[in-house]
Amino acid sequence: MPDLVARGVDVRFGETAALTSLDLEAGAGSILALVGPSGSGKSTFLRAVAGFERPTSGTIRVGDRHLFGDGVNLPPEQRGLSMVFQHHAVWPHMSVRDNVAYPLKRAGVPAAQRRERVAEALETVELGHLAGRRPDTLSGGQRQRVALARAIVARPGVLLLDEALSALDEPLRASLRLVLRRLSAEQGLTMIHVTHDRDEALAIGDRVAVLNRGRLMQCAEPEILDSHPGSAFVAGFLHDATLITGRVDADGFRSADGGISLGGDRLVAPAGAVEGPATLALVPGGLALANPGAAPDRIGAEFLTSLYGRSERTVICRRGELEFRIPAPPGGATPTVVGESVGIDVTRGFVYPHS
Ligand code: ADP
Ligand code: MG
Repeated sequence: MPDLVARGVDVRFGETAALTSLDLEAGAGSILALVGPSGSGKSTFLRAVAGFERPTSGTIRVGDRHLFGDGVNLPPEQRGLSMVFQHHAVWPHMSVRDNVAYPLKRAGVPAAQRRERVAEALETVELGHLAGRRPDTLSGGQRQRVALARAIVARPGVLLLDEALSALDEPLRASLRLVLRRLSAEQGLTMIHVTHDRDEALAIGDRVAVLNRGRLMQCAEPEILDSHPGSAFVAGFLHDATLITGRVDADGFRSADGGISLGGDRLVAPAGAVEGPATLALVPGGLALANPGAAPDRIGAEFLTSLYGRSERTVICRRGELEFRIPAPPGGATPTVVGESVGIDVTRGFVYPHS
């Protein structure tokens, strides 16, 4: 299976820069998850790759084939890609089998070979037993599997998924995540999976690219995004970090209002050494509940509410405008009275220089 490499891609809509100098790669046979807030340019990137949007500059290639750039601009049907959207576009008047066979029929694949490949694609998405049914008798999740089978049956070089799971409810969505991972592992399919859902991006992507306002913020393995978010934006967007502006000097971090300080030994600087104006990003994993009393590296706050989670509760506290999310291990006491004073011990905070 080929890799996909995009370099310096710019897409403009009139005055709006939808993508700016975007460099992205999906390794051969791997899944690149693309995540970012609404309007960050995720769909525009997929559309540029598919040939529906024309970049003003940049190059896009799949394996050794140039799709765009250096004087080349292949039409969508010659790019050898498949795309799946949020809302399945399956034909209600055709059987599941005929829906999936359609791309092969158009490509002139002989009937015997067609039957074999349709059966194989339906097995892959676990729909073999429903081949004779009409899509309008299926559930939304099953119809989305039909769309997926139709997208892979022609063996595309790269599969592009634009919020393909976003309209599905859990646990259907979780089971489709597994289907995508299996597709990648068993068939070595190269995929770009666009989603606005952070957990989904981290769960599915071999690598995860974070976009904001048409620019790439970071692209890395999920573990790296957890341990070294590359900017305050990534820490805030992916990890619900509390962002605090201030400065870093020899003693550590001090907030602009002087109310929060953190010793230098607690600071991690993923974007390089920091001195001077900085943003402190406090991710839940670096916070622990403590007594309200004053202590070094402790923040005083008020209890707001808490959320249940399978592995731990998350306690939400506030200090002025700032909101903190603190994991509370099972069995530990959590505050219950709204407005109650709590202490937050900071074991680790990310700092980023102001550019
Ligand atoms: P996402 O998929 O991340 O939500 P999009 O790629 O759809 O974001 O959009 C990126 C930006 O480009 C947004 O500001 C959006 O309003 C703009 N945009 C997208 N398509 C068009 C278009 N056809 N005409 C004008 N602006 C567009
Ligand atoms: Mg979109």
